[in-house]
Amino acid sequence: MGGTENFSNKNRLFVTVDIEDWYHIPSVCGSPFSVYKDTDEFFREWLGEYDYLTEPTLRVLKFLGKRNIQATFFVVADVVNHYPGLVEKISENGHEIACHGLEHACKIDPKTKKPLFTTEEFEKRTKEAKKLLENASGQKVIGYRAPNVLIAGWMLDSLEKIGFRYDSSICVNSFYNKSDSDLDGVGTIPYFPIEGGLVPGNKKRDIIEVPWAYLNTFGFRIPVSGGPMLRFLPSGLLKKGLIQSMKEGPAVMYFHPIDISNKSFPKIGKGRPFYWMIKGDVVEKRIVSLIDAFNKSGVNFCNLRDLMGIMI
Ligand SMILES: [Zn+2]
Repeated sequence: MGGTENFSNKNRLFVTVDIEDWYHIPSVCGSPFSVYKDTDEFFREWLGEYDYLTEPTLRVLKFLGKRNIQATFFVVADVVNHYPGLVEKISENGHEIACHGLEHACKIDPKTKKPLFTTEEFEKRTKEAKKLLENASGQKVIGYRAPNVLIAGWMLDSLEKIGFRYDSSICVNSFYNKSDSDLDGVGTIPYFPIEGGLVPGNKKRDIIEVPWAYLNTFGFRIPVSGGPMLRFLPSGLLKKGLIQSMKEGPAVMYFHPIDISNKSFPKIGKGRPFYWMIKGDVVEKRIVSLIDAFNKSGVNFCNLRDLMGIMI
């Protein structure tokens, strides 16, 4: 930890892990420009090995367990069917199971941000996903993260209606916006959104939005919660941004087990070789050293279910 930074127990970091495999990404499945329409089509046609997820997930469970950290795992629900025992194992290790969609399909168009599903279809599929995850884990699933973090206000309304208590998909930054809103007034701390939108409202609702962390520096907001940023940005910058965000309130960190896989993934889908250029052990070291640095400074690691106690 740089300088004289030191944290009291007030400093909370939510460690979140997105459970999806290499073919769940939009260039391979579930988007207007994917090679396969959806994962059903992928499983009908793909003849090669598909499981690049189990091995790195077991490594994640190991390094979190060693440090006694309980995280929130946002799981694509079809993982229950194609990786028997994996969701059960994550849950048995004491982690929270949350929902990352039924099969990781984009719910809004990445370019136009117009819905790709009707509200009814979205609710039906999300309910199905929630049930699959609840049956496998034995936990009540109350958290959601939008696949590819493509999120819209109408989705939050549906999530609230079908029993979700929080969403963690919004990433405010100076470079991209994957939501259908201007995100005015959204910072890095959890808030109650307005109905039908994503910006903060003044009324308490049954759903909370937990946006991701960013580093405010030189007039830019740099996303620092993790994911691809863990692979492409120096960890000092991520650390600085997470510290800055934790000073405001609880902050979110996230990564994918496939980020730490040392295997090379099948080369299908546009832009993939670049996307996966940095991954494996080097990324695992970055994640672990960030966690260890925060651990030493007295940061309180929580899963997102704990947020309910903080906010209400
Ligand atoms: Zn995802």
